[in-house]
Amino acid sequence: MSSTFDTTKSRNTIIDVKGKDDPEKVVIVSGHIDSWDVGQGAMDDGGGMIISWLAPVALHHLNLKPRRTLRAILWTAEEPGLVGAQAYLKKHMSELKNINFIMESDEGTFKPRGLSVAGSTEARCLIAEILKLFSPIDKLEETDYPGSDITLIVDKGVPGASLLNDNERYYWFHHSEADTLNVLNMTDVIDCAAFWAAVSYVIADMPTDIPRVSPIYT
Ligand SMILES: [Zn+2]
Repeated sequence: MSSTFDTTKSRNTIIDVKGKDDPEKVVIVSGHIDSWDVGQGAMDDGGGMIISWLAPVALHHLNLKPRRTLRAILWTAEEPGLVGAQAYLKKHMSELKNINFIMESDEGTFKPRGLSVAGSTEARCLIAEILKLFSPIDKLEETDYPGSDITLIVDKGVPGASLLNDNERYYWFHHSEADTLNVLNMTDVIDCAAFWAAVSYVIADMPTDIPRVSPIYT
């Protein structure tokens, strides 16, 4: 039997590495910081949250500054209904035109395979070219729904992607008491983190913006 308790205040956590040429333009990596109340939430979404947190942290430690700002967003309250993502969208509606690309990892951090990409044909072609740098982590799947939280922003015309990984076992553990740290293989999580940081850095440092599907809908 489940029950719902009163809500309380919580916040999205945002980490930026400021862009050196166009700091107002952002490339976003993200995962959610809350979890289902059974288990530990290690897989959903501890893995996605930690690799997203690590992307700007790794760039900072390596003293790498991309042209655009690289932003990690750790969404709050995804599970009750994308509450943090809705609040972010509402507050940042006028800045949507500055989001060049948005990424989410919320379906496992097993062995990384590539990206599931939403956007125009031109955007997907450009991402496919970038993925060639990461062979054999270079698979590109096309989707219109590249995640849960970020779909709110992708629906406004911003191109985006989610992490493709060997997550066939994801729903063995999802939202259950079995979602604990021992489900995660640390070598795979580190590979996901390295891929996530490197691919977001390359996108944030591209000389041209990722082409948009259409004008931003506000
Ligand atoms: Zn999740």
